[in-house]
Amino acid sequence: MQYALVDGARSEAFPKGKGTCATCGNATLAKCGERKLHHWAHRSLKDCDPWWENETDWHRAWKAHYPEECREVVHVAPDGEVHRSDIRAPGGIYIEVQHSHMPEPELRSRETFYGNLIWILDGRSWRKNFDVCHALPNPRSPMAADLVWFQAKRGYHGANNGMFLRLSENPPHTKTTLRGGEIHSLRSIAAEVQANYSGHHQFAWTRPHEAWLEAGCPVYIDFGEPFMARLQSYDETGLRCVRMVRRDAFIQATMTASRAVDLFPD
Ligand SMILES: [Zn+2]
Repeated sequence: MQYALVDGARSEAFPKGKGTCATCGNATLAKCGERKLHHWAHRSLKDCDPWWENETDWHRAWKAHYPEECREVVHVAPDGEVHRSDIRAPGGIYIEVQHSHMPEPELRSRETFYGNLIWILDGRSWRKNFDVCHALPNPRSPMAADLVWFQAKRGYHGANNGMFLRLSENPPHTKTTLRGGEIHSLRSIAAEVQANYSGHHQFAWTRPHEAWLEAGCPVYIDFGEPFMARLQSYDETGLRCVRMVRRDAFIQATMTASRAVDLFPD
């Protein structure tokens, strides 16, 4: 933990510091070695919050984007269950920054507990498994309603560069029933796609962490780059896509928004 209570006040760890945990009230000891981040640890071996993850520089950097009072905020559910969130943004959105993989049952529990939640995943170590492929038009644009895209997959160069069928050429099909027809290339409509572009792309994720694809709350992947990738579904065919969002725009939006699902609507 970055904070513990010392004489009733939230404090960062300092050499030989003693405090109490704001979540459970038990004794904490400051850990101020040279190799690990300065932090507080429970005097007993286990942290009181089973969801708590050992912090990395990456966690601390994310927390540092938000005001001090927004970090490590204790949340109590109506039934008395208590957890410590990484960030509770000023507008009330909880943000959990997650470095390691998480089992699906825990993911579900945390989403239920916080409700108004955004996940930020540390994608830096698996960036090489994640290809951001061709641009897609905004899913709400009129042109998007006519196009059925072939799903991208690593090694499928045609699909990764953009291949689609047109509903208007294949009546009476709908997006969910259309299986074949004349195949078109993105190149033929590149200018129109560009005009309707708002950051959506197909992606090909090799060895994906499946639980995140099934998450109920918004998932943003931080690859350590200026743009983050939000996982989302594109249309009724079940096609998944990412929406690329600038990191600074994300931070700015979470400072004021009150609902996680309102950020960067499509
Ligand atoms: Zn505790």
